[in-house]
Amino acid sequence: ETHKETLGFQAEVKQLLDLMIHSLYSNKEIFLRELISNASDAIDRLRFDALSDASLYEHDTDFKIRVSFDKDARTITVADNGIGMNREEAVEHLGTIAKSGTREFFQALTGDQQKDANLIGQFGVGFYSSFVVADRVTVLTRHAGLKPGHGVRWESNGQGEYSIENIEKPSRGTEVILHLREDEDELLNGYRLRSIIRKYSDHITLPIVMKSEEKDKEDEWEVVNTASALWTRSRNEISEEEYNEFYKHISHDFSDPLAYTHSRMEGTQEYTLLLYVPSQAPFDLYTREVHHGVKLYVRRVFIMDDAEKLMPRYLRFIRGVIDSNDLPLNVSREILQQNRMIDAIRSNSTKKVLSLFTDMARNSPEKYATFWQEFGRVIKEGLLEDHNNRDTLAKLLRFATSTSGSETQNVSLEEYVGRMKEGQDKIYYIVADSYAAAKDSPLLEIFKKKGIEVLLLSDPVDHLALPELREFDGKQLQSVSKGEVDLSKLEDEQEKEEQQKSADEAKDLLERLKQVLGEEVKDVRTTNRLTTSPACLVVDEYGIDPSLKRLLQSAGQ
Ligand code: ADP
Ligand code: MG
Repeated sequence: ETHKETLGFQAEVKQLLDLMIHSLYSNKEIFLRELISNASDAIDRLRFDALSDASLYEHDTDFKIRVSFDKDARTITVADNGIGMNREEAVEHLGTIAKSGTREFFQALTGDQQKDANLIGQFGVGFYSSFVVADRVTVLTRHAGLKPGHGVRWESNGQGEYSIENIEKPSRGTEVILHLREDEDELLNGYRLRSIIRKYSDHITLPIVMKSEEKDKEDEWEVVNTASALWTRSRNEISEEEYNEFYKHISHDFSDPLAYTHSRMEGTQEYTLLLYVPSQAPFDLYTREVHHGVKLYVRRVFIMDDAEKLMPRYLRFIRGVIDSNDLPLNVSREILQQNRMIDAIRSNSTKKVLSLFTDMARNSPEKYATFWQEFGRVIKEGLLEDHNNRDTLAKLLRFATSTSGSETQNVSLEEYVGRMKEGQDKIYYIVADSYAAAKDSPLLEIFKKKGIEVLLLSDPVDHLALPELREFDGKQLQSVSKGEVDLSKLEDEQEKEEQQKSADEAKDLLERLKQVLGEEVKDVRTTNRLTTSPACLVVDEYGIDPSLKRLLQSAGQ
C-alpha cells in the first residue's frame, strides 16, 4: 500500500488537541521537550530491540537527536535515528490515544482550564503539543530494518484529519517538522532553542545536536545538552532544578516532585536508584494497570518501563530509575519474574523509599501531610501486601480520631499511644462508610464518656488493612464494633455494681426481645457501651464488620 489516504483522528484526539491548544499556550515551549523525549524513547527502543536483532542498527550506531530550524520555510525539525514507525504504527500512534487511563482521563476533565491543564500534564502532553505552536506538522519516518521504500509521510493541520502515504526514506528513524503558526517567529532562533533544550532536556542521555552559530562553522553540529545520565552523577553535582526536570521527563508530570531519594548501592551487587514521590496522586492510581512507574536500566541501557517487579504494588505511584551493573543486558520479563538479584533490588529499594517517607514525616511535616493526603490510602494497602515492613508502615499511618476534631488524618499511632488513658491497654478504632458516620456512631458514646480516643476510619481499604495490623507497640488494635468491649479496668467499683444491677433488672426484657427477634439475631445482651442511645447492633468477635459486609454486598460478593 503506497497510496495517499486521508483519515480522521479518533474523537478523543480531537478533544485533546482543542484542550491543549487552549490550555498549554502559556507553556508552549514544552513542545520541544516532548518531541525530544519521544526521540529519546525511540532510540532507547531501538537499542533494546537490537539486543536480539543487530541488523536493526543498519550500521549506524551514532545515536543522536538533531534539532534544526529554517528561517525561510519557518520550520523547526526534530530528527532521530531511533526505531521509527511503519504505516500502521504511524496511524495507531499518531492518530489515536492508546494509553491506559485514557477513559479515566477524559472522565476527570472538568472544563476548568487551569485544572485541566494540570490533568493534561499528568496524562502526558506528548506529540500533540506540537500543534500548540504549529499549524501543520509533517512526520517522515521509517521503521528500523525495513527497506527505504517503506518510509511514511504523515501530515496534519490538527483540525480533525491527517494524511498518510508511503515515501522513500533512506535513513531509519523519525523526523518531525513543525510549520510554525503566524506569530511564532521568535522560536526560529538558535539561542532561544538552545536555552529551551538546556532548560527541559539537559538530562537526556543522548546527544542533542544543533548546527553551530559561529561564522564559518555553520555546517558543524554541536552538542547542546550535558548528555550524561543524571543518576550516574554524584548528588552534590546535581541541582534541585536538574532533579526536578529529570522527574518531569520520566514521569510525564507537570509539577515538581514532592521528594526523592538518590543512592548508589554497593555490596553483593551494584546498582543506582533515583526514585521520586510525585506531589499529586495520578488520576488513575486506583485503576488496575500500572504504567510509567520505575524504569529499569542495565549499565545505562534502557531495558523496560513499568517493571512491576521492581516495586511492590502499593508503591505503584513511585517514579524513577534503577540502573543495575550486574543484571544481564538481555534480561527479559521472564527472567525478571524469578531472579534473586531482582528480589534483592526490590527489597532494598522498598526500604529506601520507606525511609524517605519516614524522613519526610520527621523532618518535613507539611510535605508529609500532603503525602498522606495523596497517597495514604495506597500506603494502607501495604499492611496487607508487605508484611516484612509492617512495623515501618504502621508508624507512617495517620488517622482522624474522635478527639482530634477534624476529618484530616494527622494523628499517628505513636501519638495515640502516648496519650492513652491510665489502665487503657488497647488501641480502639471504628471503621465506617464515611467520616461522619464514624464520628457520630453510637458505639463511641461510652468512649466519649470515659475520654478515650478512638481512631475514625472511613477509607474502603481500612476494612481489610486495619485488622491486618493487629497490634502496635505491644498494644492490641480493637474494633469498637466487634465483640465485647472490655473497659472494666477503667471503671470503678461503684460503676461495676450499677452495671450488674441494671443487667439483672433487664433480664426479663432480654428474654422477651430474644423471643421476638428469634432467628434475626444471635444474641441480645445488655451493654455498658451506650450512654444516650437505647440500643445498637454489633457483630461478634469473628463476625464481619457491618460496613465491610455492605462493601462486599455492593461489590456483588
Ligand atoms: P508517549 O510518548 O507518552 O507514548 P506521545 O504522544 O508523545 O505519547 O507519542 C505517542 C506515540 O507515538 C509514542 O508512544 C510512539 O509510539 C510514537 N512516536 C512519537 N514520536 C516518535 C518517534 N520520534 N519515533 C518513534 N515513535 C514515535
Ligand atoms: Mg512522548
